[in-house]
Amino acid sequence: MRKGQISIRNSIEDVLCPFTDWYCTQGADGRFSHMGSEANDIRGIKSGIHYPYFAPVDVKCVNINVKSAFVWWQSINQVRLADGSIDYVTFLCGHDNTIDYSIGKILKQGEQIGNMGDAGNATGVHCHIEVGRGKQDSWVKNQYGVYCIPNQIPLEKVFFMNDTNILLGIADWKYLDDILIEDNRKEYLNISDLADTWKIYPIDKVPVKGNECGMLRPSKFGGLSYVIKGYPQNNVALIETRDFGLVQIYIGKDVSQLFNITNQPIYNLAT
Ligand SMILES: [Zn+2]
Repeated sequence: MRKGQISIRNSIEDVLCPFTDWYCTQGADGRFSHMGSEANDIRGIKSGIHYPYFAPVDVKCVNINVKSAFVWWQSINQVRLADGSIDYVTFLCGHDNTIDYSIGKILKQGEQIGNMGDAGNATGVHCHIEVGRGKQDSWVKNQYGVYCIPNQIPLEKVFFMNDTNILLGIADWKYLDDILIEDNRKEYLNISDLADTWKIYPIDKVPVKGNECGMLRPSKFGGLSYVIKGYPQNNVALIETRDFGLVQIYIGKDVSQLFNITNQPIYNLAT
């Protein structure tokens, strides 16, 4: 994935691959330290570089093992895996030298979640990554004495590889188009033509006064309808606009007479 990339379909986040480059130096069941584990060690195109990686979905830090530099990130919501299943998942990432947050830290899909590193038991700069189904916050020792996240999933069943350059690592990789979604739960935000203007906010900022990135003009167009791509927080919707791309929009109770949400667009669909 790229920094800032978001993929939400039918209000469910797709699990994107956290890396821009996928250069696997040790795969699942690797003899060096992954025996019986689905873990992969991933570096970038050049060795030794502390490349950033990004939140595959909205996540919350639930555990940090400081000694080994391992961090557990639980998905906030049920998310769509690359095998099409929908569930909570937990990402376990290792060797970041720059852990500067604590348990409880929340990151949105696409925000930087860490840097490849060599903290803990690592021989070169990389990210050790494994994924467990469900809400995990621990690891268990397997029959080879290797610590693994419970309910491990093979990574090709987890990550959609869109916008990840696969440099080294053969698997049956999946892309978003491999899992087609029927849009049977589409919701539309309809903004009344009684509203002259309506502020919108970028997806990487808190949607409050001062952070606006533009203005919709519902009255000018006789009302506007948008497909709702998600709800990042209470009273805030994600919509795709023609001029500003994906943005956040405030839809609180105090303005509820000026909009509604339906399964069919009421006004001109503005995408
Ligand atoms: Zn590893």
